[in-house]
Amino acid sequence: MAENKKTYDLECVQEGFANGVAPGFPLSDKQKEKMIDKAEKAYGKFLDALGCDWRNDPNSNDTPRRVAKAYVNDLWAGRYTAMTPITSFPSDGYDGIVIERNIPLTSMCSHHHQTIGGVVHVGYIVGENGRVIGLSKLNRVVEHFGRRGAIQEQLTSAIHNAVDKICENNLGVIITVVATHNCVSCRGVKHRGAAMVTTKASGVFRHNGNDARQEFFNSLKINNGGHQI
Ligand SMILES: [Zn+2]
Repeated sequence: MAENKKTYDLECVQEGFANGVAPGFPLSDKQKEKMIDKAEKAYGKFLDALGCDWRNDPNSNDTPRRVAKAYVNDLWAGRYTAMTPITSFPSDGYDGIVIERNIPLTSMCSHHHQTIGGVVHVGYIVGENGRVIGLSKLNRVVEHFGRRGAIQEQLTSAIHNAVDKICENNLGVIITVVATHNCVSCRGVKHRGAAMVTTKASGVFRHNGNDARQEFFNSLKINNGGHQI
């Protein structure tokens, strides 16, 4: 089999939840426009409640629309826009570990609606006569689940389950997420620089001290031209 394009159902939480997809997913451009119009009005009321005279403030008079657009088109885009089909290729006898590290992550905490920023490291091992997926598809999986509300632990599981599904017949999948949460640095305890690290592993990566898991974490330490790991 040569190149193969496939669409998968990768969702794992209830529709409508901040970390799930919106009802009616995926939304058409027209539906998104309607949603932006509604959210714009509601955000204007939110600013009214906060005592902000946004209508007369030259810096803020278009802010409700800016915020509504940012949610629908960027911050929560994964709730409204479907992922492109996944491309996979024959592994041609390669049976080693495949790792993509430092995939940029931008997300938003479901609890406080503050942004989360960090990186995701993905590893998997192809099964016998298995298939490898186009590398950028791993980035797309991270974008799809990152661009919505998130609890980092559940986000790690969602990315893991998606990679496990699309890398059919794999021998194991491991996901590590390293992220800082603005709800920790800007509010509440107000501590800057604290990073949260979560790892979800399956198959040959499942147990502490085994070779595959060790190889994955060792690969994250290899010099990669000065990028932060
Ligand atoms: Zn939070």
